[in-house]
Amino acid sequence: MAGKRTITIIGGGVIGLTAAYALVREGHDVTLIERREDVGQEASFANGGQLSYRYVSPLADAGIARDALGWLFRPNSPISLRLKADPSQWRWLLAFLCACNRQTNRRNAAVLLDLALSGQAELQTYREEGLRDFLWRRPGKLVLYRNAATFRKAAKSISDPERQRALSPSECTDIEPAFAGLRGQIAGGIFSPEDEVGDCFLFCEALREALAAAPNFRLIHGNAALTAGSKNRCAVLLDGKPFETDLVVLAAGIASRKLARPLGIDLPLYGLKGYSLSTRPRPGLVPSVSVTDYDNRVVYAGLGDRLRVAAMVDIGAQDTRLNPKRLGELRALVNETLPGALGQGPEGQGDDTPWAGLRPATPTGVPIIGRTRYDNLLLNVGQGALGFTLSVGSALRLKEIVAGCNSRAIS
Ligand SMILES: Cc1cc2nc3c(=O)[nH]c(=O)nc-3n(C[C@H](O)[C@H](O)[C@H](O)COP(=O)(O)OP(=O)(O)OC[C@H]3O[C@@H](n4cnc5c(N)ncnc54)[C@H](O)[C@@H]3O)c2cc1C
Repeated sequence: MAGKRTITIIGGGVIGLTAAYALVREGHDVTLIERREDVGQEASFANGGQLSYRYVSPLADAGIARDALGWLFRPNSPISLRLKADPSQWRWLLAFLCACNRQTNRRNAAVLLDLALSGQAELQTYREEGLRDFLWRRPGKLVLYRNAATFRKAAKSISDPERQRALSPSECTDIEPAFAGLRGQIAGGIFSPEDEVGDCFLFCEALREALAAAPNFRLIHGNAALTAGSKNRCAVLLDGKPFETDLVVLAAGIASRKLARPLGIDLPLYGLKGYSLSTRPRPGLVPSVSVTDYDNRVVYAGLGDRLRVAAMVDIGAQDTRLNPKRLGELRALVNETLPGALGQGPEGQGDDTPWAGLRPATPTGVPIIGRTRYDNLLLNVGQGALGFTLSVGSALRLKEIVAGCNSRAIS
């Protein structure tokens, strides 16, 4: 270790909290600044709950642009695109399209797999050391394919047969009987028995609680800003007043882009809006394993006695308002796939708690973890659709960079 540092982390989502946890364990003096009254209130609040360690292939892949065109004109489409007169949206989309080829996808998937698996091993240590439970389980993850050609392609690309296997439709429904009604509609599935689930907000709370017990940690609720200082250093402002620190880690999710702008850093982040529904269905309808309905891009996770369903990638919707049309479409997809799971609300709309969040996404799907041209500023941003899964691995990488063992940024 390069020595004890005074480190300020901006952002109390899952990325900032895991970073704080890793750095506090190293003995650094860590301050976490969070603008909300509690941690984990934005993208980390009610996400899909999948710790999808072995299924990290980025959205940017060969053929995705063609598939997306099909989706855009489909009812209940998992993807919607609203083009805006916003140069950052166009730049992001262009960079995304440039990453949509097999070679780039493979390279980036390997980076993500590495990050994910290192995090899985470390999380095991945290749990063994007594981190409070966050409805964590290791039931495995089943990706169901309705389209035979897509299933064959996925089965062919299994890289580690010890850890992933292709299943027939009946094997899929044997592993997850809650989806038995789909048997005639699925071509097959890929099962990763070591993947996990958990409640991301409860994980954030567990980290906050564990950190509160550490003498070298403090949590401040306030609004942080960054300005360029002297000699290649940036300065932190807390509620408009200078805040002294040795190192700064920017981990403010989608807000990071705005925070970095005054420093002349244009982060390639875009908020991909998604929705979730949380509900308590009758027993038998909460899947035991975590399931992804690939063709509809809907994920299902059983969290305690609740079912969490998450989906939708709305490109161009830069707020977290609940759009009744998109929620209706998500409910229709779930009702068709897992009838009865959402129950019946007073107007037949489902007896569930809806939520929306913005995935802080880079075009390639690879987060940006590393140094900047400011000597005292580090980035830990852009975990996108996999922030819960990649959080602990990202924190490990950040810790190495702080220690000076690894000065290479990944992006
Ligand atoms: C619908 C949906 C489903 C998902 N499902 C999964 C899943 O199943 N598995 C998975 O791995 N990932 C999933 N994700 C992705 C994951 O939720 C995100 O990648 C992750 O939560 C991002 O964490 P973060 O800490 O970067 O951002 P956030 O959780 O948004 O945290 C950023 C924090 O910074 C704070 N902040 C911002 N600006 C300031 C400021 N100026 N001063 C102080 N504080 C500030 C905010 O208040 C916020 O608390 C999903 C996301 C969505 C939207």
